[in-house]
Amino acid sequence: MDQQAFQCSCCGETLNGPPFAWHFDAPDAWSLLPPEDRASRGELSSDQCVIANQHFFIRGLVEIRIHDSYAPFAWGVWVSLSEANFAQTQDLWQNSERAQEPAYFGWLCNSIPGYPETLHLKTMVHSRGVGALPYIELEATQHPLALEQQRGITMERVRKIAEQMHHRWPAK
Ligand SMILES: [Zn+2]
Repeated sequence: MDQQAFQCSCCGETLNGPPFAWHFDAPDAWSLLPPEDRASRGELSSDQCVIANQHFFIRGLVEIRIHDSYAPFAWGVWVSLSEANFAQTQDLWQNSERAQEPAYFGWLCNSIPGYPETLHLKTMVHSRGVGALPYIELEATQHPLALEQQRGITMERVRKIAEQMHHRWPAK
């Protein structure tokens, strides 16, 4: 792994990593609910979320290839699926044949820091084997996140993301 400590170019703090992945704990729609209302509005697990019995989310990875590393970078984000496709993912959760599922349409449901708005970008959600998070493929647009996924990034960009994130997500 290409894991080395480095200095933040904006504050000089020594940062570990840089991390190859950043994960959202929940879809933004869940995080925005008042905490005291959450239990009555729906449920959240590590990989699934349902709100008001009408919004269905799963967690996946927007993987981005890194030209100068063998490992990819990933944004761990949530996408919303149709009720039928969400039900299908539940039915196949422990089924090894799920990797053969056709891709599902999904709306990206997190605002990723450091980009123009990413909430509600269109994606295709590719199921993988049991225990693996789905691969989230962004619609091939000119959005900077979509372009990064199409073109790949470099370790320099991975370090820049780490610098941005330690200022925006100081607790992480
Ligand atoms: Zn800094």
